Amino acid sequence: MTKQASAANIRHWLETINTYNSTPGAGTTRVLFTKPEVEARQYVKDEMRKLGLAVKEDGIGNIFGILPGRRPELPPVWTGSHIDTVLHAGMFDGMSGVVAGLEAVRLIREAGAAFERSIVVVVYTSEEPTRFELGCLGSRALAGKLSLADACKLVDKEGRSLPEVLAELGYDLARFAEIPIRPGAVYGAVELHIDQTGVLERAGKTVGIVKTICAPTNFDIEVTGCQSHAGGTSMEERRDAYAASCEIGLALEKLARESDSEYTTATIGRVEVCPNAVNVIPGKVKFSIDIRDCDFDAKERLVAKLKAAIAVIEEKRGVQVSLTEYNNDQPMHCNTAMMAKIEAACHRRGISYQKVISGAFHDSMLVGEFAPVAMIFVPSKNGISHSAEEWTEFADIAAGTDVLMDTLLAMANEV
Ligand SMILES: [Zn+2]
Repeated sequence: MTKQASAANIRHWLETINTYNSTPGAGTTRVLFTKPEVEARQYVKDEMRKLGLAVKEDGIGNIFGILPGRRPELPPVWTGSHIDTVLHAGMFDGMSGVVAGLEAVRLIREAGAAFERSIVVVVYTSEEPTRFELGCLGSRALAGKLSLADACKLVDKEGRSLPEVLAELGYDLARFAEIPIRPGAVYGAVELHIDQTGVLERAGKTVGIVKTICAPTNFDIEVTGCQSHAGGTSMEERRDAYAASCEIGLALEKLARESDSEYTTATIGRVEVCPNAVNVIPGKVKFSIDIRDCDFDAKERLVAKLKAAIAVIEEKRGVQVSLTEYNNDQPMHCNTAMMAKIEAACHRRGISYQKVISGAFHDSMLVGEFAPVAMIFVPSKNGISHSAEEWTEFADIAAGTDVLMDTLLAMANEV
């Protein structure tokens, strides 16, 4: 198809969604099932209907805007992303993928293009973990990895569980069991998303074709030493839980830097020191570890080396370290046939591209559990996201939408 996406349309939709915001003037905050988020959902559903899509919503609030193909009985092609945000976020992360889907189906309808499989624009519920501290709630449920029993354990800061919030908004909890999608029931899912690194901008490329979505492994660590007087305990005598934690942190950083995998990160983002006083040697330190990799085996090797390093630190410093693993996701490899379609669309349209790794996770990581997935990235200015400073040129989203539209049509006509 030769039609081109309209940057003005994309801008209009993004700026309108951005008005549903609980912190105007201080970035965008649109947390799951708060008033602005519910209103933004309604706006997107209304826009879907205006475009002639049939709108459905499942038991966790995933929204599906369906453009029926000539053979609606065939597994459909999906595209979409999320419209919830972190606190004080920008207006592009997630929303770009939803808006690109809307613009793509608008153009496909306008062109009167023939296609066999139905094309569905999906808004996944709560990709961000802002409210319930677990991300990808909607796509996780679609993948059959979030049952109603699991959902009951998700409680927000006000002590309200996810099912309680869903029921209050009128979602039928009896339908929760119908959410999971059987493998094979979706032909393929393509998500457009902002890059969130500076890679595409530095390379001067308009599109990133994602090869692999890195997946996190998370630990809670507790280091126990001996609490005692900062002046009264000599350097030889002390068993300092904080100094041991620092050494673990540096060992982790070194392992991640020296990893032979194409993309590895390791982060200690939360630390609690006890008793946290200037004149007391810390007796206990608790912290988080987040390790991400595009290679699951490399991640396992790094964790084994980290455990060995921790054993040495325990011995040397006379501390005890406990590690609790609470998450260990599999990286998602994008479908090569779908990547080839994206690449062909870039060639045909003369749009520059390069293949990239996604360090951040996305709904596609979980959608990949039941369908082949691919992702189209568009550049982020200075690589900044999850911030009011987040910026992507509307023209770049439009170019990514052209590629998305061609990819969706090619897939929808593959029977
Ligand atoms: Zn996102």
